[in-house]
Amino acid sequence: MNENLKMRLINDAKDIANENFCCTSSNFTVGVALLTTDGKVYKGFNIENDGIQSICAERVTICKALSEGNKDFKCLAVVGKKLDEEKFTKTLPCGYCRQFMSQYCPKDFVIYTYDDESEEIYEYTLEELLPESFSYKKDK
Ligand SMILES: [Zn+2]
Repeated sequence: MNENLKMRLINDAKDIANENFCCTSSNFTVGVALLTTDGKVYKGFNIENDGIQSICAERVTICKALSEGNKDFKCLAVVGKKLDEEKFTKTLPCGYCRQFMSQYCPKDFVIYTYDDESEEIYEYTLEELLPESFSYKKDK
């Protein structure tokens, strides 16, 4: 994917993170922009509550796409920052999200993140972030 498309996805993730009004526990906002194979972009942010049932931006976004009938995913961009700070920092999916993604995304699915300080794009495949993932299916 070319650099312009990567930055567009990263900027979409930043935009939705800046709209977050649901990270009331951590005050750490995370935004995700998910690109489907047919070119559609879904966006989401982390949704927290006072219990332990908070939902990460990655799962929010993938569930949005799945619930609208789209299940063919190409890549996503994820960024995060403290609410009172301007700059986004390198942010990667938690272990729970990595396992969740392994169910719905191909192994060559790419995760981009970005650090405003270094102005560097980081990219990983899902296979790199979660090698030897759990599955009871033989074809995985
Ligand atoms: Zn997560």
